[in-house]
Amino acid sequence: MCYETAMPRFSNTLAFRLTLSYSTAFLVSAIATLCVLYLSVNSILNNRMDEDLKEDITEYQVLHSAEGTSRVIQELEREVGSDDEGQVFFRLLNKEGQEVFASDLSEWNGLKTNQRFLQQVLDSKSVHALETIKLEGHEFPVRTNYGLIAPGLVMHLGESLEEKEEIMDLLLTVFAGMFCVAIPLASGVGWIIARRAVRGIEEVSRAAVDIERGQLDRRVTMKDQGDEVQKLVDTFNAMAERIRSLITEMREMTDNIAHDLRSPLSRIRAISERALSVTDAEKCFKTAASDTLEECDRLLHLINTTLDVAEAEAGVMYTDKEPVNMSQLIEDARDLFEPAAEEKGIELTCKLDSDCHVLGNRQMLQRMLANLLDNALKYTPPQGQVSIGLVGQSQGLHVSVTDTGIGIWPADQRRVFDRFFRCDQSRSQHGCGLGLSFARAVACAHGGDITLASEPPQGSTFTIRLPRFSSTS
Ligand code: ADP
Repeated sequence: MCYETAMPRFSNTLAFRLTLSYSTAFLVSAIATLCVLYLSVNSILNNRMDEDLKEDITEYQVLHSAEGTSRVIQELEREVGSDDEGQVFFRLLNKEGQEVFASDLSEWNGLKTNQRFLQQVLDSKSVHALETIKLEGHEFPVRTNYGLIAPGLVMHLGESLEEKEEIMDLLLTVFAGMFCVAIPLASGVGWIIARRAVRGIEEVSRAAVDIERGQLDRRVTMKDQGDEVQKLVDTFNAMAERIRSLITEMREMTDNIAHDLRSPLSRIRAISERALSVTDAEKCFKTAASDTLEECDRLLHLINTTLDVAEAEAGVMYTDKEPVNMSQLIEDARDLFEPAAEEKGIELTCKLDSDCHVLGNRQMLQRMLANLLDNALKYTPPQGQVSIGLVGQSQGLHVSVTDTGIGIWPADQRRVFDRFFRCDQSRSQHGCGLGLSFARAVACAHGGDITLASEPPQGSTFTIRLPRFSSTS
């Protein structure tokens, strides 16, 4: 099956989404920081202006108490001609609220006296009474202060907020400029970071596509991409390796099955052809039928053993377990194989610890041992030796079958337990390559395992380890 790998929409890519997240996070934090900054500057400027207004009144208070009203007026007249004219005003009010003296108020249209504030300072309820007012025709608000400089004499000072508002406007312009530069910059940096972060994932994805297209040896070779990506890369490579070995095993198994099925079927075909071509039909048909039966039995055996291995590997057949005396079971197997060994001139010996039990399926354990003994006799030449050992330890039982046969080459030692695998040097012997895989499946289903040590052409030792059963366990 071939899948087309469609290009993802740009807005759907992880890199784009990460960049968007970075930029949004940057924007939100930048706006929050600048808002705090703006409000702080605004508050500092307001406080400073209030302090100035209060200070001015205090100065006039001091002047009045030292030198009297005329000196205050004289000082105010001097102030009228200063640079700040137009930005500030000042008025001296008596207790009725009438102006005793005032700067030029022609620019301050609609300026009125706040009677409540005036009364407050006259009654000495508060030293200062500050307020922000908006005057007609004035673009900017005005901050004013009422303060008592002598009994019955109030000074009303005011200053336009124009300068402060201009500073705040300038600040806004600077902030806006900063945003115009910082946002594209942050997005660009975010994009670079996001691209780097997803590079490993993209590489894994490309490798997956290549593997899907048949490049089973394709692996990801990236390094230093961060722990998470490295873990993904390692896991992906391990998975790809497992897929490759499974596919190779499957191919070999399919080849072997095809081979093992083809041989008996070809023989059945040959038998039938021969039967049809001879003249003495009756006699020949009988021979053909019996030969066909034999081949069919062989095929059935092959198929049944394949199913047994599959079942044993799935652990289906071991629901009914019972204590099995392995010492006895091995003695029985030895008795069963003794005649075959004698016939081939092989010496079959046993060295067994007594009273060693396992919890398991007797029939399956018998078949497992029979497979090992059958192989040992089959692959050991005449005058050789086969010995069976049983050692009972507290942790488990070790059953070994040792022969002085042809042995198994190191390259084949791991593969002999695979289904349908047969070593090249044993192809001349009958067999279907399922005996050892069945034995291993039974050992595993009993919580044990099976190992092999072999040195061609000196012989082999298969060792089965099984958990020991004692009546108290
Ligand atoms: P088979 O039916 O071919 O004996 P097995 O699964 O029992 O299948 O064994 C797989 C292969 O392992 C055999 O074909 C043989 O090549 C090798 N083998 C198994 N046991 C022995 C042994 N005792 N000595 C040498 N080779 C062995």
